[in-house]
Amino acid sequence: MSENNRLVLNSLKKSPKGLTAYQILNIVLKSKSIQPMTVYRALKNLTTNGLIHKTNKNKTFHLCDTAHVCNTTKAHEHNAVLAVCNDCGVAEELKTDLFSKIIKNIKSKKRFNFNNFNLEITTTCKECN
Ligand SMILES: [Zn+2]
Ligand SMILES: [Zn+2]
Repeated sequence: MSENNRLVLNSLKKSPKGLTAYQILNIVLKSKSIQPMTVYRALKNLTTNGLIHKTNKNKTFHLCDTAHVCNTTKAHEHNAVLAVCNDCGVAEELKTDLFSKIIKNIKSKKRFNFNNFNLEITTTCKECN
């Protein structure tokens, strides 16, 4: 894994509420002088490889729950299912393949390929309830 990717992953490790690309850039800049483009490229690369997930709701990035065991850039794709709190923005990756089973059985006229979907459930967390 490249050093830039590792710096980006490290910035996300202690952020259950996730970080925006801009916040990640600012954290990485504390340890290395780096071009914004380089950070954005690392984010794109890590997202493609499934090591981080992006919420549509808050545009924040979250570390994949399984990313800590993965020290390579080897593709690590899976169907991410994220629950995101409407109030405080905390996110949790749900460990379930229930949705994969349901979604793969959907009949699609446009022949969508459901092997590679991401799902985001916006709701309220325990703390905000
Ligand atoms: Zn994941
Ligand atoms: Zn909440």
